[in-house]
Amino acid sequence: MKTSAGDCTGCRLCENVCAFSHHGVFQPSLSRVKVSRRDMGQDKPVICKNCPKPRCVEACDVGAITVGSELGGYVLIDLTSCTGCGQCVKACPFDAIWLDDRGMPYKCDFCLGEVKCVKRCPTSALFWTGGEG
Ligand code: SF4
Ligand code: SF4
Repeated sequence: MKTSAGDCTGCRLCENVCAFSHHGVFQPSLSRVKVSRRDMGQDKPVICKNCPKPRCVEACDVGAITVGSELGGYVLIDLTSCTGCGQCVKACPFDAIWLDDRGMPYKCDFCLGEVKCVKRCPTSALFWTGGEG
């Protein structure tokens, strides 16, 4: 997954599409892509890059984040083994993992290959690279 910050208008459609897709509500706080605004007109989508050498994976002592061999090798979190320690959040150099209000980590799961934010972004500020970051 890649982003083109210069093309982002800050409309936040991606956040709403993601929240609706995963939770059935238009609530940007539940989105797995976050639009960061530094200054007016300087919006930037922040999303997991599916790093080739993911620091979040290295940081997790219980092996709760893995790179799947199927479906394009996505970096995914297994909440059943996660302890909620938050080390993955600290380790991600792109600020692309957050803790939810239960204290559990969440990030983009690439819609397991059917990436909806990419399809809906009106300016192509998000684009899919086939799971290779
Ligand atoms: S969460 Fe961060 S470190 Fe982990 S794969 Fe995504 S961008 Fe890379
Ligand atoms: S919060 Fe969960 S996924 Fe993240 S490092 Fe801790 S145990 Fe691993």
